[in-house]
Amino acid sequence: MLINLLVLVLIFSASLSAWGTERFAPQNGILQLPLNISEMKYLSRIDHIRICIDPDWMPYDFIDQRGEYIGINADFHKIFAERIGKEIRLVKTEDWRQSLDFVRQRKCDILSSATPTAERREFLDFTHPFNDYPIVVATRSDRLFITDFNALPETTFVTVKGFAALDLLKQKYPKLRIIEADDAREGLEWVADGKVYGYLDTVATIGYQSQKHGILNVKIAGVTDVHYTMSVAVRNDQRLLLSIFDKAVDSLSEAEKLTILNKWISITYENRADYRLFGYVLVGLGVPLLLLLLRELVVRKYRMKLQALNKELEQLSNTDALTGIANRRLLNHALEKEIARARRYHSTFSAIMFDVDHFKAINDNFGHHSGDHVLKAIADLASATIRANDLAGRWGGEEFLILCPETDQYGALQLAETVRQKIQSHDFGIPLRITASLGIAEYRESLSLEELVKTVDTALYDAKKAGRNQVKAAPCPSLKEVCPL
Ligand code: GH3
Ligand code: MG
Ligand code: MG
Repeated sequence: MLINLLVLVLIFSASLSAWGTERFAPQNGILQLPLNISEMKYLSRIDHIRICIDPDWMPYDFIDQRGEYIGINADFHKIFAERIGKEIRLVKTEDWRQSLDFVRQRKCDILSSATPTAERREFLDFTHPFNDYPIVVATRSDRLFITDFNALPETTFVTVKGFAALDLLKQKYPKLRIIEADDAREGLEWVADGKVYGYLDTVATIGYQSQKHGILNVKIAGVTDVHYTMSVAVRNDQRLLLSIFDKAVDSLSEAEKLTILNKWISITYENRADYRLFGYVLVGLGVPLLLLLLRELVVRKYRMKLQALNKELEQLSNTDALTGIANRRLLNHALEKEIARARRYHSTFSAIMFDVDHFKAINDNFGHHSGDHVLKAIADLASATIRANDLAGRWGGEEFLILCPETDQYGALQLAETVRQKIQSHDFGIPLRITASLGIAEYRESLSLEELVKTVDTALYDAKKAGRNQVKAAPCPSLKEVCPL
């Protein structure tokens, strides 16, 4: 996701923005959410939705000089308001702590974005995440890039106090020592002063805060496996409001998410006064992310190669090398599946087993090579005769099996007879009439795979006994008598 995000943001930003706006412009002014009657009634009863934010969390949440709510989250809530069809009105608070108090006291209905924690769940519900950002680490510019966070020697990292991803980071990287700073500025300054090794946060926050406070000698030196997920937090006594917001969140497209992030990353770096910083940020962001991109491309290439090889391997393990049709392994597998299906849906299927008559004589008189050639020709004949749903395979030696789903013994008898006649009249290129004996059996629900195979094999043996070059049906196992054909 990170890779996609950056590639798209850095390379296709302009085109994406244009595409995003055009494609996701609401039709007739309103993009309808699939709301149910209760949700619509709920909305008709309220005038607006009250939102509390973190007033000092640029670039996600911020109140500008005109008192307007702006930032990445603000842009998401603009879309939500439009789709829900209700104004989302800011309730001003001093800080994040007060926002949490306000929503607990029901002075606001939602928080712009919050990560679910056990403590918060006591008074909040959380929507599906509307975004998730990887947690990255900012270090001093002269530090090496970090590839494995678990393999670092004794180092200390810092996050902002109360950072919701802290627990996840501690779980994922138990060896990391992580201390807390009052805010992003303090954390980044500790990094710049060499007091701690790295500051953990999202790319957008690090980029914005380092620029704003002129902390120039930091760079992004690594990407953790931890993602910071952002959900709308809804007061937990308003279930309908939660489901409405869930639907609004679900309606967001990836392109919309990228367009918003793109806008704020651009703003962050376009307004810079110091071009050195731009260089740092670009190198800081660009190099590790390009390395990651390269790694991702290589991994993806090998993954595809591996998938192709595995597919080939599966094909090989299911195919008979001489004839190119299914082998016994695949036949067994297909029989098992058919038996399960027949038991579940009370459907039926049939199996045909056949064996070339006096095959030994072909080998003896014309050589093993000719014998092989006959086996291949018979496999081709069988494959060309069966329907698309049937499966013909080599059971072993000069014995074949045809599995006929959705076919009773009468259908199987017809097919077996056709195969018998085709073999009998085929020119195999040797001066010998080649024939085969065939047994058929329709599946009865009580039969196991072994019993079914034994049954059809017995029918084949009966055909041999009766003089070869003929088809015999299995006795009805349940009735202990020959099934009427
Ligand atoms: P029946 O009519 O009773 O089936 O007589 P048969 O000679 O066909 O049966 P038998 O089981 O006595 O002989 C089968 C022969 O098939 C023996 C074996 O060498 C030969 N055979 C098995 N697999 C292959 C193979 O892959 N290629 C060749 N050329 N011959 C094979
Ligand atoms: Mg034989
Ligand atoms: Mg045989």
